[in-house]
Amino acid sequence: MSDTQFKAWRVEEQDGDYKGTEQTLDIKDLPEGEVLIRVSHSSLNYKDALSASGNKGVTRSFPHTPGIDAAGEVIESATGTPAVGSQVIVTGYDLGMNTDGGFGEYIRVPSAWCVPMPRGWDAETAMTYGTAGLTAGLCVQKLLTMGARPEQGKVAVSGASGSVGSVAVELLSKLGFDVVAISGKADHADSLRELGAREVVGRDALAEEKKPMLKPVFANAVDTVGGSPLAELLKQIKPGGSVSCCGLVAGPQLQTTVLPFILRGVNLLGVDSVEIPLDEKEAVWKKFAGDWKCDKAEASVRRIGRADLGDALQAFLKGQSAGKIILEHS
Ligand code: NDP
Repeated sequence: MSDTQFKAWRVEEQDGDYKGTEQTLDIKDLPEGEVLIRVSHSSLNYKDALSASGNKGVTRSFPHTPGIDAAGEVIESATGTPAVGSQVIVTGYDLGMNTDGGFGEYIRVPSAWCVPMPRGWDAETAMTYGTAGLTAGLCVQKLLTMGARPEQGKVAVSGASGSVGSVAVELLSKLGFDVVAISGKADHADSLRELGAREVVGRDALAEEKKPMLKPVFANAVDTVGGSPLAELLKQIKPGGSVSCCGLVAGPQLQTTVLPFILRGVNLLGVDSVEIPLDEKEAVWKKFAGDWKCDKAEASVRRIGRADLGDALQAFLKGQSAGKIILEHS
């Protein structure tokens, strides 16, 4: 390999089928951008599985290198910020969608996408959180900004065993909240309690009810599933409470009345981790590197190499993925 060549897990279209293989690319083939980064770690997300399987809503044209998360060392910097030699985190914006992403050993991106690595942190630790952890942090931050406090009562987390939900459970419990984990996986109840959930309840807690309002049970909530469970959750929020909403695994539709909002003053808070200003991402990363450190999330990660990416991404599509997976490039 020459100095400018590198390895990437590249997805190609062959007769309508999409297949990822390890390929050798050249740095000059990367898209234009101000910052060249040698990626040491990436992390796996459902969106990567969509990109790798040819979902045109995520990635329009192939061949393509997926990977919406990346962390590593700055090798070239046209603007001087971030500095050459510094470590950075890149998540979201167009990375891994229509810009070659973290499943390659190098990426080239705008400087406005690069979060400086928090002091005392490294690329591997950052990727144990990845976009999922960042999203959980943003959900919790929105609740706190709305004035959520432990003494107000229970906080529900739906999709609790998922990548976003599990970090939300651990973080909220670390911050002193009484967390009720809502999960469809009975066999994950013990691990959710180990993350700090005070109670673990089944998805039937959010089963569809005809009544427009229900007994208020939760002071606040993080909803990672959307759809009808979110509509049911809104009916059970105490007056003045808030729900951070970030996901749609139970469906993108939200059929609700205005009653939770006008009778109980409930706040529905949208959370996007992708296109928000860089300083909002940076603030959450700094917290995870400080007071918000989630020891259990950091300890439970599974590490894979590029050769394992195909199977790991397939598991996402089959709904069989459990726990956080990071990609190590060497
Ligand atoms: P995961 O697949 O890891 O977890 C989702 C969890 O939701 C599952 O583990 C399961 O938890 C629960 N679930 C799955 N299917 C259903 C269903 N049909 N009805 C109810 N619950 C269900 O996903 P992530 O945690 O990574 O992501 C969660 C959501 O957040 C996704 O929709 C994702 O697209 C979105 N997301 C949004 C971001 C943003 O910027 N807004 C960024 C990152 C993710 P259990 O079995 O415990 O109930």
